[in-house]
Amino acid sequence: MTQTTRRGLLSAGVAATAFLSAPATVRAQTAARLLIVGGGFGGASAANFARRAHPWLDVTLVEPRTRFITCPYGNLVLAGAKQVEDITHSYDGLRARGVRVVHDWAEGVDAAARRVRLRGGETLTYDRLILSPGIAIRYGALEGYDEAAAEVMPHAWIAGDGAQLRLLRRQLEAMPDGGVVGLSIPPNPFRCPPGPYERISMIASYLKQHKPRSKILALDAKEAFSKQGLFQDAWAALYPGMVEWVPGNRDGKVVRVDPRERVLETEFGTRHKVDVANVIPPQSAAGIAVQAGLADSTGWVPVNPRTLEARAAQGIHVIGDANIPGPMPKSGYVANSTAKQAVASAAALLRGEAPPEPVYYNTCYSHVGPDYGISVVGIFRPNAEGTAIIEVPNSGGVSPRGNLPEQRRLEAIYADAWYESITKDMFG
Ligand code: FAD
Repeated sequence: MTQTTRRGLLSAGVAATAFLSAPATVRAQTAARLLIVGGGFGGASAANFARRAHPWLDVTLVEPRTRFITCPYGNLVLAGAKQVEDITHSYDGLRARGVRVVHDWAEGVDAAARRVRLRGGETLTYDRLILSPGIAIRYGALEGYDEAAAEVMPHAWIAGDGAQLRLLRRQLEAMPDGGVVGLSIPPNPFRCPPGPYERISMIASYLKQHKPRSKILALDAKEAFSKQGLFQDAWAALYPGMVEWVPGNRDGKVVRVDPRERVLETEFGTRHKVDVANVIPPQSAAGIAVQAGLADSTGWVPVNPRTLEARAAQGIHVIGDANIPGPMPKSGYVANSTAKQAVASAAALLRGEAPPEPVYYNTCYSHVGPDYGISVVGIFRPNAEGTAIIEVPNSGGVSPRGNLPEQRRLEAIYADAWYESITKDMFG
């Protein structure tokens, strides 16, 4: 039995034998164990929300890193408008709220026994498990792109300890004026659909100031992308002649990389030699979700649209980028929104009640310049049959096109407010 369990039992004053033989719904009267794996947008939000809304839950969060660096606003670090320290958060606020935070890797899930094994040797038991481990890079999906290649051609798509982001920033700083920055952009689905285009914009903003003769070559596996008209209008207005975006049907799909020569090679064999290469490779759900047998052949985890429980295992809610979210994007906002529904469902099921009807939200701000923001909004819910998530008709919206400097300036301010409020909602 884990420390958490013992604490829950003692505080509830319940004999251990009676507790262990009781069904989960009865245990909920005392201190049911909610275990959360992954302390990022989904997991930290779930831990914080669980303690606020359901103080009777005994909440443990497993996260290997002692500080969390957000991917959102990472592109502003590349532009020199923010530092990595500005986007780094501690878990002290969650601890103060009563979350037990364990800094370790979850290495195995036993869904039948409701146990998670940690790398450090501890085994944690749970009544309900929330998994929000994020993504893994599919090394090898692009020929030549392995972990060693990522040290030369950074992806900077998983924040981790910040090393990838810092490496890409250093490479941009070291590049001579007149150099070419090449990006390889994957097919759908992937983490943060507008993210590559925000990255192009923020790199362009840096180059315009410091290396104005340089170019950005964006090689894309797709023919269309999120907020495309808004991005392309802004590139033409703010960074004329600097950005070349090549869609998949014009030989934009990168299939092979050569880190030694810094070459991005497309499916029709065109070899682009660049000075800095940012390879955003194809992705899948993070390893722990796949190893637990929760992912399907796509590499992502199918879930119940109402409870976010994995189709493949009862009692395990999979949220954030690791799941298959229907039409919702893989965003921090959706991870936060689904975290609340997963906690509410887990709490209801532990009490023997029906899970609440969900509504999911997304708002994605993108910076096109440091003081120039655009956004897209969507509201989602399960369909009438409860079989899939759908976008609520006429609920969504996107910033209007046109020459609207005041709107763009305000949206950059709203983006800052969004960042501040969501990180408070995660870390307290
Ligand atoms: P994460 O936030 O990545 O958290 C996963 C956590 O799980 C990590 O801390 C990891 O250490 C931990 N973990 C992994 N494996 C294990 C294990 N085995 N055991 C224990 N812990 C484990 N979204 C927005 O909404 N707005 C934005 O403006 C935005 N901008 C972005 C810009 C960029 C450049 C990128 C790359 C992404 C952006 N996103 C944005 C997307 C957002 O970062 C993700 O959608 C979000 O982080 C997903 O949350 P998550 O909980 O699934 O994963």
